[in-house]
Amino acid sequence: MMDIRVRSLLEDIEIRLKLSLNDRQRTQLVQYVEMLQEETNSQRLIGDATTASLYYKHIYDSLYPLLLKQLPEGEILDLGTGAGLPGIPLKICLPNRTIYLMDANRRRINFLRKVTRELNLSGLNLLAGRAEDWGRDTAYRERFTVIVSRAVAPAVVLVELTLPLSSVGGLVLFYKGPRGPAEFKEAAAALQICGGVIEDYWQYDLPTGESRSIYMVIKNKPTPNDYPRRVGKPAKDPLR
Ligand code: SAH
Repeated sequence: MMDIRVRSLLEDIEIRLKLSLNDRQRTQLVQYVEMLQEETNSQRLIGDATTASLYYKHIYDSLYPLLLKQLPEGEILDLGTGAGLPGIPLKICLPNRTIYLMDANRRRINFLRKVTRELNLSGLNLLAGRAEDWGRDTAYRERFTVIVSRAVAPAVVLVELTLPLSSVGGLVLFYKGPRGPAEFKEAAAALQICGGVIEDYWQYDLPTGESRSIYMVIKNKPTPNDYPRRVGKPAKDPLR
């Protein structure tokens, strides 16, 4: 039986985001939040972890793009997924899509392996390692039609990490806070170099009041082979 408070949080999120989920999807979201809660209690995988904040700051925020856009066909990558955000909520709500979750942190990948098993998710793939390395792997370079990334690095760094993995014509969605506009101003040269243009952006408030933004970049030409640079370089010496 689903806790009544949890049920009403989920209903509220579905209404706000115009989603219509089935019982299996609702159960999976609740299971995932419970696993996050257990995990954060022991390992502090995410910041503050009250039930309402988990649903609003993490589930609602992760699913927000579904209100904005129909994501184009093809494989989806969540780069720097951490404990699975936004990738796991997106996978639950888009069960027929193939999603890859990438993270450098082994412990987080192990947690995600457990989530995949317990929620019985299929079409979900885990990539352990650094985006700088995956971006030079010919099996993954320029492969994904949709890339999402949330709370991983400043835009100027993320552009260099994400665009090499995007197919030409693919979309990259950057989940940002109120500093989105300033970060993207700083990322203009990186976008130019790596072959992306800002197509659209949205500002919105979480039900908890915090402001967020989403930037949508389209990859409009191939990324030169010099990028991404070696591990650590994009953050240490951002493209200007
Ligand atoms: N997207 C999640 C996690 C944010 S924490 C969320 O919204 O909660 C940032 C995560 O990005 C960490 O788990 C870290 O291991 C990962 N990360 C940072 N730089 C990375 C890189 N270059 N390649 C792969 N993963 C990276």
